[in-house]
Amino acid sequence: MEIIRNIKVMQETANAYIREAKTIGFVPTMGALHEGHLSLVERCRQENDIVVVSIFVNPTQFGPSEDYKEYPRDLEGDIEKLREMEVDIVFCPTAEEMYPEGYCTYVNVEGVSEKLCGAFRPGHFRGVATVVTKLFNIVKPTRAYFGQKDYQQSIIIKRMVEDLNFDIDIIVCPTVREKDGLAMSSRNQYLNEAERQAATVLYRAMQAAREVILSGKGFGEAKEHMQRVLRSEPLVREVQYASVYDPFSLEDITTLDASGYKGRKVLLAIALIIGKARLIDNMLVEVTQ
Ligand code: AMP
Repeated sequence: MEIIRNIKVMQETANAYIREAKTIGFVPTMGALHEGHLSLVERCRQENDIVVVSIFVNPTQFGPSEDYKEYPRDLEGDIEKLREMEVDIVFCPTAEEMYPEGYCTYVNVEGVSEKLCGAFRPGHFRGVATVVTKLFNIVKPTRAYFGQKDYQQSIIIKRMVEDLNFDIDIIVCPTVREKDGLAMSSRNQYLNEAERQAATVLYRAMQAAREVILSGKGFGEAKEHMQRVLRSEPLVREVQYASVYDPFSLEDITTLDASGYKGRKVLLAIALIIGKARLIDNMLVEVTQ
């Protein structure tokens, strides 16, 4: 396994593989790798000749009062895990390498970036779209793998790839959860024991809303149920959003008639704060009646 820190070296390495007609699969991450990340790597390994994983805690996607400095970092542990998974290249540039002095170009996917998390993290998706664009130009992948855990991110990337004509297949992989339903996340490390217990409330709330939708009741009732479960957990400090959304436009659809979605999927999505962790989760539910 090769560890590359330099952009030019990464590009030249990618060019050499492309000349040999090898497919390059790419998994971008911010490190502190868990089973969720590794499920993307595994899928990528199955479908490509060469697997590249990037580890880069991207400063431009963190707000000034967010957790860029405290974000968990474990490069050595990550490299060990990736070695075991037969990854070919780990690309781990420094922030100075990615954003040298004078850097001033950003990518903004309008509309969808402002909804849900975008409303609470201004500039976040601009940072994500920018770093993913840069990484695509550096790694030159055939396919890139993202998790449904960050549902909004995945649709923003798909939109960007379409709009900017990137010749890259975007593959979205299912959310990997702990046994009790908590979606795996590097930020779960911020939780103490009691908070970790409380964090199962996201999954419980979505399950409750799912039941309501599957029983044929409206989206408004599903939202009420979801919010009731969230309110029952005293360690939840703030619910930023929790509702039923159109999976493409991300519009809140709780005032619409559910019959308009029969045979289609709707998105349940939540963002909340427990302790010092901001946790997000989502679930797609097919409207059957
Ligand atoms: P991050 O390191 O948080 O930027 O995540 C890197 C990639 O892993 C993103 O595409 C995430 O959506 C994905 N990911 C994170 N957590 C999970 C999870 N629990 N299950 C599946 N994919 C995940």
